[in-house]
Amino acid sequence: MTRDPARAGRTTSGRTTSTRCPAVMVFTRDLRVRDNPALCSAQQTADGVLPLFVLDPETLGTTASPGEPGDPAVRPPANPPCPNRVAFLAASLQDLDTSLRELGSHLVLQHGDWVHEVLRAVRNSGATAIHLADDVSLHARHRFERLQREAESCRVAVVRHPGVTVVPPGAIAPAGKTAFAVFTPYHRAWERQRRRPILPIPDHLGPPPGQTSDTPRAHQFLDEWSPDAQQHSPDLPPGGERAGLERLHTWVDEHLAEYERSRDDLAAEATSRISPYLHLGCLSPLEAADLTRDLPGGSAFTRQLCWRDFFHQVLAARPDTARTDHTDRQIPWTPDEDGYRAWATGRTGHPLVDAGLRQLRREGYMHNRARMVVASFLTKDLLIDWRRGAAHFRSLLVDGDVACNQLNWQWVAGTGTGNALHRVLNPTRQAQRFDPHGTYIRRHVPELANLPGPAAHDPDPIERRRRGYPEPIVDHALAAQAFLSRVKR
Ligand SMILES: Cc1cc2nc3c(=O)[nH]c(=O)nc-3n(C[C@H](O)[C@H](O)[C@H](O)COP(=O)(O)OP(=O)(O)OC[C@H]3O[C@@H](n4cnc5c(N)ncnc54)[C@H](O)[C@@H]3O)c2cc1C
Repeated sequence: MTRDPARAGRTTSGRTTSTRCPAVMVFTRDLRVRDNPALCSAQQTADGVLPLFVLDPETLGTTASPGEPGDPAVRPPANPPCPNRVAFLAASLQDLDTSLRELGSHLVLQHGDWVHEVLRAVRNSGATAIHLADDVSLHARHRFERLQREAESCRVAVVRHPGVTVVPPGAIAPAGKTAFAVFTPYHRAWERQRRRPILPIPDHLGPPPGQTSDTPRAHQFLDEWSPDAQQHSPDLPPGGERAGLERLHTWVDEHLAEYERSRDDLAAEATSRISPYLHLGCLSPLEAADLTRDLPGGSAFTRQLCWRDFFHQVLAARPDTARTDHTDRQIPWTPDEDGYRAWATGRTGHPLVDAGLRQLRREGYMHNRARMVVASFLTKDLLIDWRRGAAHFRSLLVDGDVACNQLNWQWVAGTGTGNALHRVLNPTRQAQRFDPHGTYIRRHVPELANLPGPAAHDPDPIERRRRGYPEPIVDHALAAQAFLSRVKR
């Protein structure tokens, strides 16, 4: 299958898809009408486009856990869908439906097995081609391979397009290898890589072929389908392309110039918070990179977008790293249930760790610096397997993403790309450095509200008792020492 936008419309079998028959455009992680290569290609090459999204319970379940189809012996039990991501997805689909209606079309929503529903839409519309964005997780690959097999037997072409990352995974690689394992050379090559042009919104799409006019509107369908979404965290961001664009542009105007200085400032809330919009493709990562790269602050910001691409190309080359160590360090993980429970509920007695975990529960989001501190604490102070931490994150994160989540967890744990095995973050020092006035801690740990300034970094035992805040469950210095000697052994 082609991944090259210049060759989009051509399948590996060599058949062209430009005969003017209808096409099905399957939205996945590209829930937008701006700069959407799959949508543009469908519109340009077909006579009528059916815009489809399939709510597949298996996909929603697996996006909440590291579980992927594969060997059942290593497949973790399926998790229920993450209510935060379901709620954000529902809002994003409604917004997409509104945009498609402005183009004379509407979103067709189906619920069921993804491959089965895509093929049903093909049959109902008389389509001869299916367009969709390429994705890298094992789950996305397996379902794509199934779709391709079944579509080929009906002589329907399946065309994959870029759009989930700035630079498509595999577009740049060191000689003789499929992916970069080290960030700095990847970043250099990424900066030099020629980019595809940003695509305009299609002028007009027209009614989806084969659909009756009484198709339920997205919100009716979603209200009925997603009662779980009602149980989401209280402070979720609004979903959808419109909200994402507004967030991006406001943030660029107000904060981009100071990004490098303020990105680690926990209290400042000065990072872009576009990660959920990138995760579902409500924003085009290419457009975000293009908009910012020549502005003051732009190179520090696009470097972060490059990290996102970096992890996607690692996962594309090694899809197993969603659940296995990228580099096997033989770390002797422990099943410390009490430690895990204290960590997951934000009751470790280490104020910065607890602040991060409580922000996650309340907002479905956590500041990057706090993510690093809580991940280091779980894997190194408590010696608990990174997979448990990654699963907890993905049960709550609105931006929870296989590539960025699993591989950042591995990066911090020391099993991933990078060389962080011997780096154990000290939660109190991290708080003194990145939350010097204790503002972030007080914001998220109400027991410590009113504790003056830096006293919140490590309250004394009397204050803790008075406020019902726990003693530290481990002494960081001893735990760090124990971790380092265990991994040395
Ligand atoms: C343990 C751990 C787990 C993480 N899990 C996720 C996850 O599931 N999904 C996710 O999108 N990010 C994840 N990150 C990366 C990072 O924390 C978030 O992308 C970032 O906090 C999102 O906030 P922002 O949009 O304000 O970021 P900004 O600082 O404004 O950065 C802009 C964009 O760059 C990308 N980015 C920034 N930092 C990273 C990074 N370290 N790795 C990859 N991409 C990055 C994101 O897409 C982000 O939206 C994780 C980091 C750690 C340490």
